[in-house]
Amino acid sequence: MTALREFGAAPWRVRAWVGLSAVLALVLPVLLSTFPTPTLRVRDLVAAAALVVGSVLNVEIGRLFEGGKVAQQRPHKALSAWPMAATVLLPSFYLAPVVVLIYAHARWRGMRVTLWKWIASACFLICAGAIAGVVVTPLPGDGTPPSLDSGLPGLLIMVAAVLTFLAVESAMLAMSAWLNTAQDDAWMRRTLADPAFYLTEAGVLTIGALTGLLGANAPWFVLLLVPAYGFLQQSVLHRPLQERATRDPKTGLLVFNAWQRLAVEEIRRMSAARRSWAVIFADIDNFRFYNQRHGHLGGDHALEHVAQIITTNVRPKDLTARFGGEEFCILLPDTLADDADQVAQRLRLAVSEESAALPEPVTVSIGVAVVEAGHTPMELAVVLARADQALYRAKLEGRNTVRIAGPATDADRGVRESWALPPDGQLRRAPGPQWPADTERTRRLG
Ligand code: GH3
Ligand code: MG
Ligand code: MG
Repeated sequence: MTALREFGAAPWRVRAWVGLSAVLALVLPVLLSTFPTPTLRVRDLVAAAALVVGSVLNVEIGRLFEGGKVAQQRPHKALSAWPMAATVLLPSFYLAPVVVLIYAHARWRGMRVTLWKWIASACFLICAGAIAGVVVTPLPGDGTPPSLDSGLPGLLIMVAAVLTFLAVESAMLAMSAWLNTAQDDAWMRRTLADPAFYLTEAGVLTIGALTGLLGANAPWFVLLLVPAYGFLQQSVLHRPLQERATRDPKTGLLVFNAWQRLAVEEIRRMSAARRSWAVIFADIDNFRFYNQRHGHLGGDHALEHVAQIITTNVRPKDLTARFGGEEFCILLPDTLADDADQVAQRLRLAVSEESAALPEPVTVSIGVAVVEAGHTPMELAVVLARADQALYRAKLEGRNTVRIAGPATDADRGVRESWALPPDGQLRRAPGPQWPADTERTRRLG
């Protein structure tokens, strides 16, 4: 029921696309079958069963590595290796049952992905396998499918099959993410924009193709691949774990630690190239009251929404983090004072307008600090402190407003003192005076 409701809540274009993919997943393997008379052969059935068992073992090994926890969103646990192996080894009509079984098992063992996305992803794999299967044609001349002893032409066919599988799978995932709302598919969009995804996936598919080739020529040697599958599990796990350490789970933005690391690197590059950059601090106004009226879950939803608005209103190369609580910081590389002011104004407007979708609109106050090109290299701590002071003024001077820190002077180095720089190098705002609460609202609503 929940699953149906979730599917019903997706935009209609996504539902249409998923429906179309399901039809394609049923039709393509039969339509594109390179085996004109799809007879059932015992050895094919055994091979198909072996692939399912392989996937089951693979998922179970993954569970061991993860200590039984499999909660985070991830499209596969190297699951696409098995449909790739099936593509090489079996007539394409085996794809659907093989994928359905391995997907059902992985889900039963704890993959917590929205059901319709899970089904869609299974359909995408079936379609990718069916289309890649067309590439795995018998070699001209000897009429046999490519095998371990087909030499260079066989190798080229395998490479083409893997690339075709990867291209179809990625394109279908991308279409789904593109049709869906940015908010619902933020994770998938990020994943697809990351070259590491294609590298890992190509590795997974190559191992799958090898499994298929060995399965046809020398089934016992498939056992040699067991450690490779273990290795694969670890590498597909590596990213999500890394991601968990650098991304704030509530908003999907960078956590401040990770932001600081990336920002310091970027600033070093900017200073070396004598380019200007800016830091923006944004704080949601009177968020305490929002929580009081809409509950903490309502508050969390608003927080997510504001993070989304910020992300869609800055450039991809800008670094956005959740500083903590309901505060965000953004590094704008290659940005002059006027541009930084414009960006901040645009963000402020976007939040106040686009948050109309929430039960109650919210606003942000913004502080900006700019480092002009050619200025003496300035530490991040100094610039953050200046942006923070500008935010302080924005709060004092009415909220829902932008303030720009004045030009940097040597005296500004003093403000560094308001930011603790402990031995671990991690910047923290020192406990000190905060801007006063909105007394007008406190009186009215408090
Ligand atoms: P102003 O910044 O305009 O002065 O008012 P404010 O009410 O936003 O200021 P304050 O910093 O005092 O309060 C921040 C509030 O943000 C308090 C806290 O309950 C809320 N908050 C911080 N983190 C979260 C979160 O993760 N989820 C929710 N729902 N609320 C949060
Ligand atoms: Mg606030
Ligand atoms: Mg705050």
